[in-house]
Amino acid sequence: MDLILFGIQGSGKGTQGKILKDRYDTAYFETGAELRRLSKEDSKLGKKVKEIIEAGHLVPNEIVMEIVENFLKNVPKGKNVIFDGIPRKMEQAQSLDALLEKHGREYKAVILDLSEQVALNRLTLRRICSKCKTVYPADYENDMCERCRGELITRSDDNPESIKTRIKAYFDETMPVINMYLEQGKLLRINGEQSIEAVSKELFETLDPIYK
Ligand SMILES: [Zn+2]
Repeated sequence: MDLILFGIQGSGKGTQGKILKDRYDTAYFETGAELRRLSKEDSKLGKKVKEIIEAGHLVPNEIVMEIVENFLKNVPKGKNVIFDGIPRKMEQAQSLDALLEKHGREYKAVILDLSEQVALNRLTLRRICSKCKTVYPADYENDMCERCRGELITRSDDNPESIKTRIKAYFDETMPVINMYLEQGKLLRINGEQSIEAVSKELFETLDPIYK
């Protein structure tokens, strides 16, 4: 059973995704990371991706699907996949669904539920280490990185305008996809407004019966 992980920025989706990957020994598909990896690869698809990225264009849906399919072909038989950051919109959800069906893969969707206001607060207040780029949540109280003692600063893309744009895109484009999975009985809901540890605990309680 594959997992499609949803959560608005600030929900801790990436953090929880890595924790789940380790706990259940899954493959992990993260669109951004896969694009970066492919762009350095000397293959037909790699070159195509590199061209699109260098031109500053958004990667078209059919190329994203080609990338997913390429990824799936390399997943060892019997290994589950966690999808992080895909699908973002309905068109992509429909293509992904068709692709997974073609490969005989079943999936559930998981959402780390977070209200718009909590997401806004977390994103506005989080900081990043100026040296090693570790991200610190809103409730971290020191001004110094605990790993490298670097100075903590606000991320340049965490200004209120760009945060609002990202949140709006999530509610306009991704929420309809999540609602579709809900109607199809594929959605597992997790309370994302808790601490990282509490969210993990709730995820384990929900997913252990499926994976263990
Ligand atoms: Zn640091």
